[in-house]
Amino acid sequence: MHAVMFENYGEFPVLTEVAKPRPKPGEVLLRVAGAGACHSDISVYRIFEEGDPGAQEPPFVLGHENAGWVEELGPGVSERIQVGSAYLAYGPIGCGQCRKCVAGLETYCENVASMPYLAVGLGRDGGMAEYMTVPAHHLVPLGDADPVAAAPLSDAGLTPYHAIKESLPHLAGGGRYALAIGLGGLGRIGVQILKALTGATVIATDVKEEARARAESDGAVTVGAGEDQVERIRALTGGRGVDAAFDFVGATPTLVTAMASMAQGGRCNLVGIAGGTHEFSFFANPYETYVTTTYWGSVPDLWEVVDMYRAGQIRPEVERFAMDDALEAYRKLEAGEVNGRAVVMPNSS
Ligand code: NAD
Ligand code: ZN
Repeated sequence: MHAVMFENYGEFPVLTEVAKPRPKPGEVLLRVAGAGACHSDISVYRIFEEGDPGAQEPPFVLGHENAGWVEELGPGVSERIQVGSAYLAYGPIGCGQCRKCVAGLETYCENVASMPYLAVGLGRDGGMAEYMTVPAHHLVPLGDADPVAAAPLSDAGLTPYHAIKESLPHLAGGGRYALAIGLGGLGRIGVQILKALTGATVIATDVKEEARARAESDGAVTVGAGEDQVERIRALTGGRGVDAAFDFVGATPTLVTAMASMAQGGRCNLVGIAGGTHEFSFFANPYETYVTTTYWGSVPDLWEVVDMYRAGQIRPEVERFAMDDALEAYRKLEAGEVNGRAVVMPNSS
């Protein structure tokens, strides 16, 4: 079958032929409908070197946000899973036995150091192929929802959802402000989730004007780039600053902007993995500001994301690519030319 492979550190992926996988006990075989191209993949194949934190040994099939139709049940899988029906696949794969994994938060598996991979598409073969295998308890039913449009939910939806849910205590009540920086795959959906779950004024920024315009159509107030960006953000809050910030880029300038925009006692969520740093010291930050990283989310979170999608509260904008054009999806993503999320459809020509 056709697959998009990450073959060597530092090299662009290739479209190649691999054997169709077989589901192991507890797994299903999924006929992939859609596999999203995430900016993290660029770090995986372009930036990470062997031994780096997060680096996963090639070769493997890319694609960590996937949806498709169940083709076959592996040994021991409950027949509650319906062959032929559409499901979204949770990506992270932990040990399955520690306290984090049994709570569905496999991103934070306590035995990650001894796991051979992080997730489907991250060390283990992912969804940029006609078929993939997935642990059955990672499937979330999609009903009659379009699995191609839904594919980005399993990362570009789940990651902002988890960070926003953890930040809700800071955004509850009147007169609250949230800041979203970077309005691509994750940030665009992040704005939609903030609007649906909180009454906060959502301030959003991106270097791309089209990205800002789309966030405005979702109800955000936007601020462009520029020297006085922090002053303009703070002015929108009456000078107080934002109660929660979500940095969906994670470069030093965006992290510095997020931290300089915080209200006292706010929560700054670092989501993007661009590797930026920021000084933490007594006078460098507003008092009692919480600073945290956040990685993906839990299986129960993903069920809630699908509920929001089916209720029309999350509306992923997808640019569809046939399998033959999968590498073009990555080229466009690297060039900043994708609007919303690029989704590869391995089973449509
Ligand atoms: P994307 O390429 O779809 O979108 C990035 C957006 O950021 C683009 O709209 C771009 O114009 C904008 N941007 C870039 N530099 C900017 C700057 N200096 N100021 C303002 N806007 C800027 O990327 P994505 O797939 O949404 O991923 C976003 C980041 O999140 C990446 O670093 C990715 O690796 C990371 N990520 C993290 C997790 C996690 O669990 N923490 C999960 C998925 C992705
Ligand atoms: Zn991702």
